[in-house]
Amino acid sequence: MYRMVSEGSLMESKSSIFLPNTKKMWKERIIFVHMKIEEDYSIKKHTTFGIDADVSYYVEYDSEEELKELIESGFLLDREVLALGGGSNILFCDDFDGVVLHSEIKGMEIVERTEDSVLVKVGAGEVWDDFVAWTITQGFYGAENLSDIPGSVGATPVQNIGAYGVEAKDLIERVECVDTKSAYTVTFENQELSFGYRDSAFKHDLKGLFIVTRVYYRLSLLPSFKLDYGTIRDELQGSETSLQTVRDAVIRIRKSKLPDPSVTGNAGSFFKNPVISNDRYEELLEDYPSMPHYDVKNGVKIPAAWLIEQCGWKGRSQGRAAVCESQPLVLINTGGAYGHEILELSEEIRESVRQRFGIDISPEVILVAAPQEDPSDSLTR
Ligand SMILES: Cc1cc2nc3c(=O)[nH]c(=O)nc-3n(C[C@H](O)[C@H](O)[C@H](O)COP(=O)(O)OP(=O)(O)OC[C@H]3O[C@@H](n4cnc5c(N)ncnc54)[C@H](O)[C@@H]3O)c2cc1C
Repeated sequence: MYRMVSEGSLMESKSSIFLPNTKKMWKERIIFVHMKIEEDYSIKKHTTFGIDADVSYYVEYDSEEELKELIESGFLLDREVLALGGGSNILFCDDFDGVVLHSEIKGMEIVERTEDSVLVKVGAGEVWDDFVAWTITQGFYGAENLSDIPGSVGATPVQNIGAYGVEAKDLIERVECVDTKSAYTVTFENQELSFGYRDSAFKHDLKGLFIVTRVYYRLSLLPSFKLDYGTIRDELQGSETSLQTVRDAVIRIRKSKLPDPSVTGNAGSFFKNPVISNDRYEELLEDYPSMPHYDVKNGVKIPAAWLIEQCGWKGRSQGRAAVCESQPLVLINTGGAYGHEILELSEEIRESVRQRFGIDISPEVILVAAPQEDPSDSLTR
Protein backbone atom coordinates (compact mmCIF):
# COMPACT_ATOMS: atom_id res chain seq x y z
CA MET A 1 0.00 0.00 0.00
CA TYR A 2 2.81 2.41 0.67
CA ARG A 3 6.32 3.05 -0.52
CA MET A 4 9.50 3.48 1.44
CA VAL A 5 11.59 6.31 0.10
CA SER A 6 14.55 5.97 2.40
CA GLU A 7 15.67 3.64 5.10
CA GLY A 8 16.36 4.51 8.69
CA SER A 9 19.21 2.77 10.42
CA LEU A 10 17.24 0.62 12.82
CA MET A 11 19.52 -1.15 15.21
CA GLU A 12 20.03 -4.75 14.21
CA SER A 13 18.59 -6.47 17.22
CA LYS A 14 15.99 -4.84 19.41
CA SER A 15 17.07 -7.03 22.32
CA SER A 16 20.50 -5.44 22.20
CA ILE A 17 19.14 -1.90 22.55
CA PHE A 18 20.19 -0.32 25.81
CA LEU A 19 17.00 0.80 27.52
CA PRO A 20 17.57 3.31 30.29
CA ASN A 21 14.85 3.32 32.92
CA THR A 22 15.16 6.63 34.67
CA LYS A 23 14.51 10.15 33.47
CA LYS A 24 18.12 11.10 34.05
CA MET A 25 19.36 8.20 31.94
CA TRP A 26 16.93 9.04 29.14
CA LYS A 27 17.98 12.65 29.21
CA GLU A 28 21.63 11.66 29.05
CA ARG A 29 20.91 9.44 26.10
CA ILE A 30 18.73 11.86 24.16
CA ILE A 31 20.13 15.24 25.14
CA PHE A 32 22.73 15.23 22.39
CA VAL A 33 20.03 15.77 19.81
CA HIS A 34 18.69 18.74 21.79
CA MET A 35 15.22 17.31 22.16
CA LYS A 36 12.96 18.57 24.88
CA ILE A 37 11.86 15.62 26.97
CA GLU A 38 9.64 15.91 30.03
CA GLU A 39 8.45 13.21 32.38
CA ASP A 40 5.09 13.18 34.26
CA TYR A 41 4.16 16.35 32.49
CA SER A 42 0.92 18.37 32.49
CA ILE A 43 -0.45 18.63 28.97
CA LYS A 44 -2.87 21.46 29.88
CA LYS A 45 -1.20 24.26 27.94
CA HIS A 46 -0.79 22.07 24.85
CA THR A 47 -4.52 21.53 24.23
CA THR A 48 -7.24 24.05 23.36
CA PHE A 49 -9.63 22.43 25.87
CA GLY A 50 -7.20 23.60 28.59
CA ILE A 51 -7.78 20.37 30.50
CA ASP A 52 -5.28 19.26 33.10
CA ALA A 53 -3.94 15.74 32.58
CA ASP A 54 -0.50 14.24 33.04
CA VAL A 55 1.36 12.35 30.34
CA SER A 56 4.21 9.97 31.19
CA TYR A 57 6.53 11.58 28.62
CA TYR A 58 6.34 14.67 26.44
CA VAL A 59 8.93 15.00 23.68
CA GLU A 60 9.44 17.86 21.21
CA TYR A 61 11.60 17.30 18.12
CA ASP A 62 12.75 19.77 15.44
CA SER A 63 13.60 17.48 12.54
CA GLU A 64 12.99 14.06 10.96
CA GLU A 65 16.49 13.11 12.07
CA GLU A 66 15.67 13.77 15.72
CA LEU A 67 12.45 11.79 15.45
CA LYS A 68 14.31 8.87 13.87
CA GLU A 69 17.00 9.11 16.53
CA LEU A 70 14.32 8.82 19.19
CA ILE A 71 12.75 5.77 17.55
CA GLU A 72 16.12 4.09 17.03
CA SER A 73 17.03 4.65 20.67
CA GLY A 74 14.27 2.20 21.61
CA PHE A 75 12.50 4.83 23.70
CA LEU A 76 9.13 4.16 22.09
CA LEU A 77 9.30 0.38 22.39
CA ASP A 78 6.35 -1.05 24.34
CA ARG A 79 5.01 2.41 25.03
CA GLU A 80 1.79 3.93 23.77
CA VAL A 81 2.61 6.77 21.39
CA LEU A 82 0.49 9.80 20.57
CA ALA A 83 1.36 12.50 18.03
CA LEU A 84 0.14 15.86 19.26
CA GLY A 85 -0.03 18.94 17.06
CA GLY A 86 -1.84 22.01 18.39
CA GLY A 87 -4.10 19.85 20.59
CA SER A 88 -7.15 21.51 19.04
CA ASN A 89 -9.15 18.38 18.32
CA ILE A 90 -8.23 16.19 21.21
CA LEU A 91 -9.64 15.44 24.68
CA PHE A 92 -7.46 13.89 27.36
CA CYS A 93 -10.15 12.03 29.31
CA ASP A 94 -7.59 11.03 31.95
CA ASP A 95 -3.83 10.87 32.48
CA PHE A 96 -2.07 9.28 29.52
CA ASP A 97 0.42 6.52 30.23
CA GLY A 98 2.53 6.90 27.12
CA VAL A 99 4.74 9.17 25.06
CA VAL A 100 3.36 12.35 23.50
CA LEU A 101 5.40 13.41 20.46
CA HIS A 102 5.17 17.01 19.33
CA SER A 103 6.62 18.10 16.00
CA GLU A 104 8.42 21.41 15.61
CA ILE A 105 9.45 20.56 12.04
CA LYS A 106 9.19 23.86 10.16
CA GLY A 107 9.54 25.09 6.61
CA MET A 108 7.44 26.01 3.57
CA GLU A 109 9.16 25.34 0.27
CA ILE A 110 7.93 25.52 -3.31
CA VAL A 111 9.16 22.26 -4.84
CA GLU A 112 7.47 22.45 -8.25
CA ARG A 113 5.92 25.20 -10.38
CA THR A 114 3.85 24.61 -13.51
CA GLU A 115 1.99 27.10 -15.69
CA ASP A 116 -1.07 26.94 -13.48
CA SER A 117 -0.07 25.49 -10.12
CA VAL A 118 2.58 25.13 -7.44
CA LEU A 119 3.48 22.23 -5.19
CA VAL A 120 4.49 23.34 -1.70
CA LYS A 121 6.21 21.15 0.89
CA VAL A 122 5.34 22.16 4.45
CA GLY A 123 6.73 20.98 7.79
CA ALA A 124 4.27 19.19 10.09
CA GLY A 125 5.10 21.59 12.92
CA GLU A 126 3.98 24.69 11.05
CA VAL A 127 0.78 26.31 12.32
CA TRP A 128 -1.86 25.63 9.67
CA ASP A 129 -3.20 29.17 9.60
CA ASP A 130 0.32 30.62 9.23
CA PHE A 131 0.61 28.51 6.09
CA VAL A 132 -2.77 29.73 4.81
CA ALA A 133 -1.74 33.34 5.46
CA TRP A 134 1.49 32.70 3.52
CA THR A 135 -0.41 31.25 0.51
CA ILE A 136 -2.45 34.48 0.37
CA THR A 137 0.68 36.66 0.27
CA GLN A 138 2.11 34.44 -2.48
CA GLY A 139 -1.05 34.62 -4.60
CA PHE A 140 -1.72 30.86 -4.39
CA TYR A 141 -5.40 29.84 -4.59
CA GLY A 142 -7.12 26.98 -2.77
CA ALA A 143 -6.56 27.25 0.99
CA GLU A 144 -8.34 30.58 1.70
CA ASN A 145 -11.67 28.99 2.78
CA LEU A 146 -9.71 26.99 5.39
CA SER A 147 -8.50 30.17 7.09
CA ASP A 148 -8.43 30.38 10.88
CA ILE A 149 -8.74 26.62 11.55
CA PRO A 150 -6.58 26.00 14.61
CA GLY A 151 -3.87 23.35 14.70
CA SER A 152 -0.81 22.15 12.87
CA VAL A 153 -0.03 21.18 9.29
CA GLY A 154 0.77 17.62 10.47
CA ALA A 155 -2.81 17.03 11.58
CA THR A 156 -4.44 18.20 8.32
CA PRO A 157 -4.16 14.87 6.48
CA VAL A 158 -5.13 12.94 9.62
CA GLN A 159 -8.28 14.98 10.17
CA ASN A 160 -8.97 15.97 6.58
CA ILE A 161 -9.93 19.38 7.93
CA GLY A 162 -12.70 21.16 6.11
CA ALA A 163 -14.75 24.34 6.01
CA TYR A 164 -16.87 26.29 3.51
CA GLY A 165 -16.85 23.65 0.79
CA VAL A 166 -13.11 22.90 0.85
CA GLU A 167 -11.32 19.99 2.48
CA ALA A 168 -7.61 19.35 3.02
CA LYS A 169 -7.86 16.37 0.66
CA ASP A 170 -8.59 18.79 -2.22
CA LEU A 171 -5.12 20.29 -1.75
CA ILE A 172 -2.97 17.44 -0.44
CA GLU A 173 -0.90 15.69 -3.09
CA ARG A 174 1.22 13.51 -0.82
CA VAL A 175 2.19 13.05 2.81
CA GLU A 176 5.63 12.18 4.14
CA CYS A 177 5.76 10.19 7.37
CA VAL A 178 8.13 8.34 9.64
CA ASP A 179 7.26 4.78 10.68
CA THR A 180 7.18 4.70 14.49
CA LYS A 181 8.61 1.17 14.59
CA SER A 182 11.24 1.03 11.84
CA ALA A 183 12.10 4.75 11.62
CA TYR A 184 11.80 4.48 7.82
CA THR A 185 10.52 7.43 5.84
CA VAL A 186 7.32 6.50 4.02
CA THR A 187 5.39 8.58 1.48
CA PHE A 188 1.66 8.21 0.84
CA GLU A 189 -0.05 9.57 -2.25
CA ASN A 190 -3.44 11.28 -1.83
CA GLN A 191 -5.42 8.35 -3.25
CA GLU A 192 -3.81 5.92 -0.77
CA LEU A 193 -5.17 7.79 2.23
CA SER A 194 -8.93 6.96 1.94
CA PHE A 195 -9.96 10.51 2.75
CA GLY A 196 -13.54 11.02 3.94
CA TYR A 197 -15.49 13.50 6.03
CA ARG A 198 -13.00 14.42 8.85
CA ASP A 199 -11.50 11.04 8.19
CA SER A 200 -8.47 9.35 6.66
CA ALA A 201 -6.52 6.09 6.74
CA PHE A 202 -4.49 7.61 9.59
CA LYS A 203 -7.53 7.01 11.79
CA HIS A 204 -7.94 3.41 10.64
CA ASP A 205 -5.41 1.09 8.93
CA LEU A 206 -2.48 3.45 9.61
CA LYS A 207 -3.61 4.44 13.09
CA GLY A 208 -0.72 5.05 15.47
CA LEU A 209 1.81 3.59 13.00
CA PHE A 210 3.12 6.77 11.38
CA ILE A 211 4.09 10.28 12.35
CA VAL A 212 3.41 12.87 9.65
CA THR A 213 6.55 14.95 9.05
CA ARG A 214 5.82 16.90 5.80
CA VAL A 215 2.71 17.57 3.75
CA TYR A 216 2.74 18.49 0.02
CA TYR A 217 -0.09 20.80 -1.06
CA ARG A 218 -0.98 21.60 -4.69
CA LEU A 219 -2.27 25.17 -5.03
CA SER A 220 -3.58 26.97 -8.07
CA LEU A 221 -2.03 30.02 -9.72
CA LEU A 222 -5.32 30.71 -11.54
CA PRO A 223 -7.93 32.78 -9.71
CA SER A 224 -10.83 30.62 -8.57
CA PHE A 225 -13.04 31.00 -5.51
CA LYS A 226 -15.71 29.00 -3.71
CA LEU A 227 -18.13 31.56 -2.33
CA ASP A 228 -21.39 29.63 -2.20
CA TYR A 229 -20.91 28.01 1.17
CA GLY A 230 -22.09 29.48 4.45
CA THR A 231 -22.37 33.25 4.26
CA ILE A 232 -19.08 34.08 2.54
CA ARG A 233 -20.73 35.88 -0.38
CA ASP A 234 -22.91 37.98 1.95
CA GLU A 235 -19.93 38.74 4.15
CA LEU A 236 -17.99 40.08 1.17
CA GLN A 237 -20.71 42.76 0.96
CA GLY A 238 -20.02 43.65 -2.62
CA SER A 239 -16.32 44.30 -1.99
CA GLU A 240 -13.79 43.11 -4.53
CA THR A 241 -13.22 39.34 -4.42
CA SER A 242 -9.59 38.57 -3.74
CA LEU A 243 -7.63 36.02 -1.75
CA GLN A 244 -7.29 38.53 1.09
CA THR A 245 -10.96 39.63 1.16
CA VAL A 246 -12.18 36.01 1.12
CA ARG A 247 -9.78 35.11 3.93
CA ASP A 248 -10.93 38.15 5.96
CA ALA A 249 -14.59 37.25 5.39
CA VAL A 250 -14.05 33.66 6.51
CA ILE A 251 -12.22 34.84 9.64
CA ARG A 252 -14.99 37.32 10.50
CA ILE A 253 -17.71 34.67 10.14
CA ARG A 254 -15.78 32.16 12.25
CA LYS A 255 -15.02 34.67 15.01
CA SER A 256 -18.70 35.60 15.24
CA LYS A 257 -19.74 31.97 15.75
CA LEU A 258 -17.04 30.02 17.53
CA PRO A 259 -15.72 30.52 21.04
CA ASP A 260 -12.07 31.60 21.16
CA PRO A 261 -10.12 28.72 22.77
CA SER A 262 -7.69 31.17 24.35
CA VAL A 263 -10.65 32.49 26.36
CA THR A 264 -12.96 29.46 26.62
CA GLY A 265 -11.52 25.97 26.40
CA ASN A 266 -12.99 23.96 23.52
CA ALA A 267 -11.98 21.77 20.59
CA GLY A 268 -14.32 23.03 17.87
CA SER A 269 -17.11 20.66 16.79
CA PHE A 270 -17.25 17.86 19.30
CA PHE A 271 -19.46 15.63 17.12
CA LYS A 272 -19.55 14.79 13.43
CA ASN A 273 -22.71 15.43 11.43
CA PRO A 274 -24.36 12.01 11.05
CA VAL A 275 -25.33 10.53 7.69
CA ILE A 276 -28.56 8.49 7.70
CA SER A 277 -30.27 6.41 5.02
CA ASN A 278 -32.86 8.00 2.72
CA ASP A 279 -35.54 5.68 4.19
CA ARG A 280 -34.77 6.73 7.76
CA TYR A 281 -34.80 10.37 6.67
CA GLU A 282 -38.29 9.96 5.14
CA GLU A 283 -39.54 8.38 8.38
CA LEU A 284 -38.13 11.18 10.55
CA LEU A 285 -39.53 13.83 8.22
CA GLU A 286 -43.07 12.79 9.22
CA ASP A 287 -42.38 13.85 12.83
CA TYR A 288 -39.91 16.67 12.08
CA PRO A 289 -40.94 18.31 8.79
CA SER A 290 -38.52 21.23 9.29
CA MET A 291 -35.49 19.04 9.94
CA PRO A 292 -32.50 20.56 8.08
CA HIS A 293 -30.63 18.15 5.83
CA TYR A 294 -28.11 17.88 2.99
CA ASP A 295 -28.14 15.17 0.36
CA VAL A 296 -24.82 13.35 0.21
CA LYS A 297 -23.51 10.41 -1.80
CA ASN A 298 -24.49 7.67 0.63
CA GLY A 299 -27.65 9.13 2.19
CA VAL A 300 -28.74 12.29 3.99
CA LYS A 301 -26.58 14.36 6.32
CA ILE A 302 -28.30 15.91 9.34
CA PRO A 303 -26.62 18.77 11.23
CA ALA A 304 -25.66 17.38 14.66
CA ALA A 305 -26.08 20.90 16.09
CA TRP A 306 -29.80 20.78 15.23
CA LEU A 307 -30.24 17.33 16.80
CA ILE A 308 -28.48 18.49 19.98
CA GLU A 309 -30.56 21.66 20.16
CA GLN A 310 -33.80 19.71 19.68
CA CYS A 311 -32.84 17.60 22.69
CA GLY A 312 -32.65 20.77 24.78
CA TRP A 313 -28.88 20.89 25.29
CA LYS A 314 -28.06 24.27 23.76
CA GLY A 315 -26.38 26.48 26.38
CA ARG A 316 -26.82 23.92 29.17
CA SER A 317 -24.04 23.27 31.65
CA GLN A 318 -23.27 20.31 33.80
CA GLY A 319 -20.69 21.10 36.44
CA ARG A 320 -17.71 22.64 34.69
CA ALA A 321 -18.66 21.30 31.25
CA ALA A 322 -21.19 23.03 29.01
CA VAL A 323 -22.77 23.14 25.57
CA CYS A 324 -21.94 26.35 23.73
CA GLU A 325 -24.88 28.77 23.43
CA SER A 326 -23.98 30.09 19.96
CA GLN A 327 -22.96 26.71 18.49
CA PRO A 328 -24.32 23.59 20.25
CA LEU A 329 -21.88 21.35 18.40
CA VAL A 330 -19.12 22.81 20.57
CA LEU A 331 -18.60 21.62 24.14
CA ILE A 332 -16.76 23.96 26.45
CA ASN A 333 -14.66 23.85 29.58
CA THR A 334 -16.19 26.60 31.71
CA GLY A 335 -13.14 26.54 33.99
CA GLY A 336 -11.10 23.81 35.60
CA ALA A 337 -13.06 20.88 34.12
CA TYR A 338 -11.41 17.47 33.94
CA GLY A 339 -11.56 15.44 30.76
CA HIS A 340 -13.99 12.92 32.21
CA GLU A 341 -16.50 15.73 32.91
CA ILE A 342 -16.52 16.75 29.23
CA LEU A 343 -16.68 13.09 28.23
CA GLU A 344 -19.66 12.41 30.52
CA LEU A 345 -21.55 15.40 29.14
CA SER A 346 -20.82 14.24 25.58
CA GLU A 347 -22.09 10.75 26.37
CA GLU A 348 -25.34 12.08 27.81
CA ILE A 349 -25.89 14.23 24.74
CA ARG A 350 -25.13 11.28 22.46
CA GLU A 351 -27.56 9.05 24.39
CA SER A 352 -30.39 11.59 24.31
CA VAL A 353 -30.00 12.07 20.53
CA ARG A 354 -30.00 8.28 20.12
CA GLN A 355 -33.14 7.93 22.25
CA ARG A 356 -35.08 10.68 20.52
CA PHE A 357 -34.03 10.28 16.90
CA GLY A 358 -32.46 6.81 16.76
CA ILE A 359 -29.33 8.48 15.35
CA ASP A 360 -25.81 7.96 16.66
CA ILE A 361 -23.66 11.09 16.67
CA SER A 362 -20.04 10.04 16.93
CA PRO A 363 -17.30 12.28 18.31
CA GLU A 364 -15.10 14.19 15.88
CA VAL A 365 -12.75 14.97 18.76
CA ILE A 366 -10.06 12.34 19.39
CA LEU A 367 -10.57 10.79 22.83
CA VAL A 368 -7.34 9.90 24.60
CA ALA A 369 -7.22 7.67 27.69
CA ALA A 370 -10.97 7.11 27.42
CA PRO A 371 -12.60 4.17 29.20
CA GLN A 372 -12.11 1.22 26.89
CA GLU A 373 -15.69 0.18 25.87
CA ASP A 374 -15.04 1.37 22.33
CA PRO A 375 -11.49 0.57 21.25
CA SER A 376 -11.77 2.89 18.23
CA ASP A 377 -11.91 5.85 20.60
CA SER A 378 -8.43 5.49 22.00
CA LEU A 379 -5.07 5.58 20.33
CA THR A 380 -2.89 2.56 20.65
CA ARG A 381 0.35 2.03 18.93
C1 LIG B 1 -12.26 26.83 17.70
C2 LIG B 1 -12.00 25.65 16.81
C3 LIG B 1 -12.51 25.64 15.52
C4 LIG B 1 -12.28 24.55 14.67
N1 LIG B 1 -12.79 24.58 13.40
C5 LIG B 1 -12.57 23.54 12.57
C6 LIG B 1 -13.07 23.56 11.23
O1 LIG B 1 -13.68 24.52 10.78
N2 LIG B 1 -12.84 22.48 10.45
C7 LIG B 1 -12.13 21.41 10.89
O2 LIG B 1 -11.94 20.46 10.12
N3 LIG B 1 -11.64 21.35 12.15
C8 LIG B 1 -11.84 22.38 13.00
N4 LIG B 1 -11.36 22.35 14.27
C9 LIG B 1 -10.64 21.16 14.74
C10 LIG B 1 -9.11 21.24 14.62
O3 LIG B 1 -8.70 22.56 14.41
C11 LIG B 1 -8.57 20.35 13.49
O4 LIG B 1 -8.98 19.02 13.66
C12 LIG B 1 -7.05 20.39 13.41
O5 LIG B 1 -6.61 19.74 12.24
C13 LIG B 1 -6.35 19.75 14.59
O6 LIG B 1 -4.98 20.04 14.49
P1 LIG B 1 -4.00 19.86 15.70
O7 LIG B 1 -2.64 20.08 15.23
O8 LIG B 1 -4.46 20.69 16.84
O9 LIG B 1 -4.21 18.30 16.02
P2 LIG B 1 -4.33 17.59 17.42
O10 LIG B 1 -5.62 17.98 18.07
O11 LIG B 1 -3.08 17.76 18.19
O12 LIG B 1 -4.46 16.08 16.94
C14 LIG B 1 -5.57 15.65 16.16
C15 LIG B 1 -5.25 14.26 15.60
O13 LIG B 1 -4.19 14.36 14.66
C16 LIG B 1 -3.11 13.52 15.06
N5 LIG B 1 -1.86 14.19 14.71
C17 LIG B 1 -1.50 15.47 14.97
N6 LIG B 1 -0.28 15.72 14.47
C18 LIG B 1 0.14 14.58 13.87
C19 LIG B 1 1.34 14.19 13.17
N7 LIG B 1 2.34 15.04 12.98
N8 LIG B 1 1.43 12.91 12.72
C20 LIG B 1 0.41 12.03 12.91
N9 LIG B 1 -0.73 12.34 13.57
C21 LIG B 1 -0.86 13.60 14.03
C22 LIG B 1 -3.27 13.33 16.54
O14 LIG B 1 -2.65 12.12 16.99
C23 LIG B 1 -4.78 13.26 16.64
O15 LIG B 1 -5.23 11.98 16.25
C24 LIG B 1 -11.55 23.44 15.14
C25 LIG B 1 -11.02 23.45 16.44
C26 LIG B 1 -11.25 24.55 17.27
C27 LIG B 1 -10.65 24.55 18.65
